[in-house]
Order: sequence, then structure tokens, then C-alpha cells
Amino acid sequence: MFVDIAKIFIKAGDGGDGAVAFHREKYVASGGPDGGDGGRGGNIVFVADDNLSTLADFRYKRKYVAPKGENGRGGRCNGKKADDLIIRVPRGTLIKEAETGRILADISDKEPVIVAKGGKGGWGNPHFASPTRQTPRFAKPGQPGEQYEVQLELKLLADVGIVGFPNVGKSTLISVVSEAKPIIADYHFTTITPVLGVVRMGPESSFVMADIPGLIEGAGDGAGLGHQFLRHVERCRLLVHMVDVSGSEGRDPQEDFRIINAELKKFNPELAERPMIVAGNKCDLTDDETVEKFREFVEKQGYSFFPIMAAISYEVEPLLKEIQEQLSKLPPVARYEPEPLVLPPVEEIGKQDIRVTVHDGVYFVQADSLLRVLRMIDFSDTDSVQYFQRVLISSGVIDALKEAGIQEGDTVSLYDFEFEFVE
Ligand code: GDP
Ligand code: MG
Repeated sequence: MFVDIAKIFIKAGDGGDGAVAFHREKYVASGGPDGGDGGRGGNIVFVADDNLSTLADFRYKRKYVAPKGENGRGGRCNGKKADDLIIRVPRGTLIKEAETGRILADISDKEPVIVAKGGKGGWGNPHFASPTRQTPRFAKPGQPGEQYEVQLELKLLADVGIVGFPNVGKSTLISVVSEAKPIIADYHFTTITPVLGVVRMGPESSFVMADIPGLIEGAGDGAGLGHQFLRHVERCRLLVHMVDVSGSEGRDPQEDFRIINAELKKFNPELAERPMIVAGNKCDLTDDETVEKFREFVEKQGYSFFPIMAAISYEVEPLLKEIQEQLSKLPPVARYEPEPLVLPPVEEIGKQDIRVTVHDGVYFVQADSLLRVLRMIDFSDTDSVQYFQRVLISSGVIDALKEAGIQEGDTVSLYDFEFEFVE
């Protein structure tokens, strides 16, 4: 079965913990602190794999957790960073945060993309040594790795998409112009998987054509099989709308043409604006007069028209030339940019679960639910710092610190940040 949407849970590895240790040597009474830092947790990395064409694998495995970084050890031994967890997906897979629909990545290039970052390792105890605190008996735990519920959406990357009613000859066309071997049969819905084919036009020039399975009446409303495939049309730069001009199945070609266009528009109004070439197939089954009548109908609406017989490759060459010509003038296939996380309004950040532990006058704050916001704070920007201060109040960090007995001038340690407490 063709699966082009899947929901999975990803979690990057937590950082390793920093170590508490002291230098020990024979005859040396008490050595200094020498606990190593923890290693970084493994990232969750996505990479395109051209051997995959569906997201079917993700129906069976839905949870992906990268390993934790190694803990630090004595003798200033830092923990090793953990290996990344690499997830392979078909090219053209969009990764969205399930909760908000925010785009995290578009896996369309060769470049692997880190979608969830591993947590940083915690500091070992030497980090906390100071003239007044020579034997710090504490270290920091590793930071948690980022985690998301994500929706994977495959949106094929093709230059040209062939759309049209079932059985008009879409699969036949792609099979005669490329190496692709789709199933061709004389009944509806034979094509249940979009098929990509590379059309070679010369030693240096080629384009990718996708055979988009049957769009049927009502597809735009979600009825029928076609709806599932419409999202694959979204990234095509150009559409070839194929019509059975002969009306060999008792259909009216003009009516078919209108219905498919209406479906495209209903799904995404932008699709109706996409450049489109019309191919009239199965010319062998009708007379010239019928073909010319249909030509007039489409040309009047501003489309170029190519009568063909896909099954015997008749007049397919001029159609391909026109496709190539139009593609040369069109912008490249759309890539989706990752969408930045917007800082939520302070008012929306309610009281959070905050833990404060005190060691030697350092107040360690743990508030994992704030971590995502904290990671975005830019400490060189005044607005950002003010926002941070307000979050500390609204989330309850300040109250929790006071409850733990903090005094003016004491040190607060909040993940990567360390600052002096001032009222
Ligand atoms: P799709 O559903 O649009 O992919 O259509 P197919 O490519 O599977 O073709 C449906 C049927 O139409 C098959 O039996 C083909 O052999 C037939 N067909 C394709 N092109 C032509 C053509 O130019 N002339 C005729 N008579 N039949 C064709
Ligand atoms: Mg087909």
C-alpha cells in the first residue's frame, strides 16, 4: 500500500551527566575537583533515501529515540558524545511538528538535517570551583534532548505532474517516455502509487515526470482515492492534463477537463494557476473533427494542446519539447523553508513544574518544560532578555527560588545560564 503520511515520535538523546570527583594521589591529602563533563546526546537526523518511495515503514515503528551521552568520569574524563540516530525517508518528505503544523524540515536535498538536537552534557564539578568553594560536591545533569511528535508528509518532487481521469493513458505516457514501469491496465484505479520517471531529452538535459494516480470526481472533498494523491501535485512546476479525446468510455472530454480542473482548484487554488499543457490521448479511437473540436475548446481557454497516441508514442515528441521549453522558463521545484518557533506570549506561559536544588549556595533550577523557550533567548538582545525575565516570573521560577531561600547575590544555574539573583 502507498503510504504518504505518518505520525511518529522522535526524541534526541539526553546529555550525559557531569561527574563529581576529586583528584586522588598517594600522599596528596585532598586533590582538587576533577569530574569530567557529560557528553552530548545523539541528534535525530533525517536524510533522503532514493530507494524509498513511501512512508510505509513508519506505520510499524513509531518511536525513535537517540542514545544518551556518556556521563563524565573522574580524572577530568569527559563523557563521549552519543551517536546520532539517522532516519531515512523518501526524497520530498516534509517534517512538521504535529501539534502546530510548523514545518521543521523539508528533506529534499542530499544534506542530512538535524530535526531534534541532542541535549548538552552537564558540567563536571571543576566548573563550580571558586576561591571560596574549593571542593564543590555537585555537578550538573545533562540537558534533555529535544523531542517532538512529528507528522511526515511525502510531497513528491517532480518537474511535471500528469493529471487526468483514470484510464486516460497517464501511466502509458510515462512508460513510453521514461524508464519507469507503472502498471498499465484497462480498468480504473490501476495506479495506486505515484510513479516518477526521468525523461531524458539530451546528454545534459532531463526532467522528472510524475504519474499522479486518478483524480476522480469528488476528490477535492476527500471522497475517493484521488484525494490522497493531490498533495503530490503541489510541488510540480508544470501540469500535463491528459484527456481521453475519444470519449472511449462514454465520457465527454470537455466535461472531464472541467471536472479535473475544479478538483485541483478545490484542493488548492494555487494549483489552478499552475502552468498547464493539455494532452489529448487516444486519437486513434476518434476522428479528426472531434479532436479539432476539443483543441478549439482548450485553446480558447489559453492552454496549448497536443493530440497524441501514448500507446504507440505517436506525436509524443512535440509534447515533450513543449514541456522542456516551458520548464526552462519556470522557477525550480518549490522547497519549504523551516518555520521558526515563535516565542509564545508571556501570558500564555503559565506556572510550570519547577525544581530547585541548592548546593553550596548555587541554586540549580530544573524546568524542562521551559527549555524550548530558553533555547531561543538571545542574550545580546534587550527585548529578548526582558522577555526571559518575565518568563522567569510568570512560570514560577522566581517564586520557587525564593521558597528555596535564595538571597540577593546568590548564583542561579539554569541549564546553560548562570546569573546572580537580584530582586
Ligand atoms: P491511466 O489510468 O491514466 O494511467 O491509464 P493507463 O495508462 O493505465 O491506460 C489505460 C488504458 O488505455 C490501457 O489499456 C492502455 O493500453 C490504453 N491506452 C493508452 N494510450 C492509448 C492510446 O493512445 N490509444 C488507445 N486506443 N488506448 C490507449
Ligand atoms: Mg495509471
